[in-house]
Amino acid sequence: MRFLTLAVISLWAISVNAQKQTSASKPKLVVGIVVDQMRWDYVNKFKPFFKTQNGFLHFINEGATCDNTIIPYVPTVTACGHACAYTGSVPALHGIAGNMWYDNVKQKQVYCVDDTSVQTVGSSNNAAGQMSPLNLWTTTIGDELKLATNFKSKVIGVSLKDRGAIIPAGHAADAAYWYDSKSGNFISSTYYAPTLPSWLTNYNSEHHVDSLYKKGWNLSLANMVYEANCDGDENAYESTPFGKETKHFPYDFNAFIGKDYAKVATTPYGNNLVIDVAKQALINEKMGADNVTDLLAVSFSSPDYIGHSFGPNSWETMDGYIKLDEILADFFSFLDKHVGKGNYTVFLTADHAIANIPGFSKKHNLPGDIYDDGAVKNDIIACLNANKLDPKLISFVGEYNIYFNHPLMDSLHISNESLTNFITNYLEKKPQVLQVIESRKASIAPLPQMAREKIVNGYNVQRGGDLMLLTKSGVVDGSPTGTSHGVLYNYDAHIPFLLVGNGIKHGAINSPTYMTDIAPTITTLLGIQMPSGSIGKPVLDVLK
Ligand SMILES: [Zn+2]
Repeated sequence: MRFLTLAVISLWAISVNAQKQTSASKPKLVVGIVVDQMRWDYVNKFKPFFKTQNGFLHFINEGATCDNTIIPYVPTVTACGHACAYTGSVPALHGIAGNMWYDNVKQKQVYCVDDTSVQTVGSSNNAAGQMSPLNLWTTTIGDELKLATNFKSKVIGVSLKDRGAIIPAGHAADAAYWYDSKSGNFISSTYYAPTLPSWLTNYNSEHHVDSLYKKGWNLSLANMVYEANCDGDENAYESTPFGKETKHFPYDFNAFIGKDYAKVATTPYGNNLVIDVAKQALINEKMGADNVTDLLAVSFSSPDYIGHSFGPNSWETMDGYIKLDEILADFFSFLDKHVGKGNYTVFLTADHAIANIPGFSKKHNLPGDIYDDGAVKNDIIACLNANKLDPKLISFVGEYNIYFNHPLMDSLHISNESLTNFITNYLEKKPQVLQVIESRKASIAPLPQMAREKIVNGYNVQRGGDLMLLTKSGVVDGSPTGTSHGVLYNYDAHIPFLLVGNGIKHGAINSPTYMTDIAPTITTLLGIQMPSGSIGKPVLDVLK
């Protein structure tokens, strides 16, 4: 009897210990944050001006920063970036070959998260919700978390952009919510559930966009701070997303109230909407409430819209980050209150960075020019016409990928080699062009090994172009106003990778790391299998 009592007591002690150990060793919640278009150098540049010490600086003061994190593939665009951060993989393997591509098998244009087999949930705008992770071929952090916990983990993605919510949440996700700019609602698709949860329907009914529009956009700091640290407030090479006459601070948005729900994307308030929905999801879906780790994937799209219009050196971009810093500080306090300090881990990265506006570069004698897909296509057609060839021999040009029309080539008896030679010889004479690469032969292109590797990693046989255009540094696939991203140069490829919380060591890592290392670092922290197509290495220096 005495032996039995002792045995029961010691078993109880073991189980209590085991429980304590699980709660101490694993986070109850992982929050992944993607800041769309964030350059690595923004934190350093804006550090003296942040109004809080516990937003972006929380990562620096208490967490880890990997300061040389590079995207190891092209194209450096939103869909591929979100896919890479959460799969540890690259377009060649995970299938997300761009925001948009031409499917060589189906012979048609495809948007990265298109899925016509599902319906919109939460809006009558059906085009906005026929979306799912169907086109993603490998597993994500969330999928592996689900597999490791017999699907008890909750996984939810939130973003303004459909692809920013759907791809990070993965295949087995509980939900993904994104913004419908027609209705001003956060919506989803029947891939996840037949209806929106009531908490989100309630949130949508409150029309938060309108109350944010009422505030207008005023600077957070004195004008002189922006004057001293940015380009001028008004430049002919900036876009005018709020109307042709509305070019400088303070911005008045009253005209958009009740009418135009798209404009909010190009203001800092897009971030307020996303964090509101993320917080509501966390509370109402009880995320981080027990010892089974949950994953909340948040993607802030507004920095991308702002950056495209006004560029990385603008007042708008700087003010957007000053305001995002306050949102992050508030979110950390929220997590402390609802999940508990020490019970969660947050990582922050970007899907890609951004080029300077070509006009800004020219003003400062830096390399900069414009060569957009439309111009590339026109040049190829001119080349084909000059050689008395059918312009229909090219089926699609997008994200600097050139797709051949193989059925037409076969019927006209035109070889791959001759079409490649015509186009290559023609385009390589253009001042913006560095090289035209034959995608299947990228591994032997006359380029440094790292550049070749980026092209090979980014080329998907079913979804990539026959040729890839490599532009010179500073050349942007965009219009005379604003700027863009997508190429292999460091201004597009150098991204932040910051971590803080449960299991994360304090310190700055300067040795080279890659975007593909993010997912295996998180799965190592959680002690779960890495995503199926992951080619990265865990950054062990950031883990306790
Ligand atoms: Zn973008």
